[in-house]
Amino acid sequence: TVAASSAAPALCDADGWAPTPQAFSLLAQAGFPIEPLVCVSSAEEAAAAAEHMGFPVVLKAERPGLVHKSDQGAVRLGLADRDSVARAFTDFSHRLGPGPALLQRQAKPGLELVIGGRRDPSFGPIVLAGLGGVWIEAFNDIGVRLAPIDIDEAVRMVEKLKGRRLFEGFRGAPPIDILMFARLLADVSQWFAAASWLDELDINPLIASGDGFEIVDVRMRIR
Ligand code: ADP
Ligand code: MG
Repeated sequence: TVAASSAAPALCDADGWAPTPQAFSLLAQAGFPIEPLVCVSSAEEAAAAAEHMGFPVVLKAERPGLVHKSDQGAVRLGLADRDSVARAFTDFSHRLGPGPALLQRQAKPGLELVIGGRRDPSFGPIVLAGLGGVWIEAFNDIGVRLAPIDIDEAVRMVEKLKGRRLFEGFRGAPPIDILMFARLLADVSQWFAAASWLDELDINPLIASGDGFEIVDVRMRIR
C-alpha cells in the first residue's frame, strides 16, 4: 500500500503541468523511488552542488512550457567535473534564456521503463506501462488497464509486453525483478487512481537495473 495522495500542487503553468521538483516531491512523499534532484540557479551553484552530489551528474534546464527537454538540448548527461557542469548551465542560459536547472546523479545504466496514468472521460483512471525509449516509438510496446490494478494484473501486463525478454538480462546486465516492477506498477496505479486532482502522470523513464529502480523523469498535469 502507498501513502494517501496529498492535495493538488499550487504552482502550475498555463497548461497545468506541475514544476518538475514538485512532481518529484509528490512521488517521494508517496514512497516511490525517485532519483533526488537539486534546483540550482547559477553556473557556480550548479558546479558546487554537483561536487557535493558526486560525479557523474545530469543537468536539465527547467523552463515553463519546456516539456520535451532532450528535444530542446535541455538535458546534459554524463557530466564528470565542475567545469562541464558550469559550462552546461551557461549553455542553457544562452540558448533557452535565463532560468534554473535541475541536477541529478546519473543513474546506473539499465532498462528504461515507463509508467503513466490518464483519466478517461468515460472509463475513469487508466494505467499504462511499457518499455521506454526506442521501444515506445518503434514498437508501441505499452500495456493499458483500468486503474487501480493489483500485483497479479501488473505481472500479466508486463508479461504481455513485446520487449518482455529484455527483463531477463539487458546487455549482459543482471535480470530485472519482474515481481518488484509489478509491485511498483500496482502501487503507482493505486496512487494515481486516488489522486483525483491529477489528470496525467508520465514517469518516463524509470531506469531498472539489477539493483532496483530509479525514477529519473516525471511529468504531472493537474486538473
Ligand atoms: P525529457 O523526457 O524531457 O527529454 P528526461 O529527464 O527524461 O527529459 O531525460 C532524457 C533522457 O536522458 C532520459 O530518457 C534518460 O535516458 C536520460 N536521463 C535523464 N536523467 C537521467 C539520470 N539521472 N540518469 C541517467 N540517465 C538519465
Ligand atoms: Mg523523459
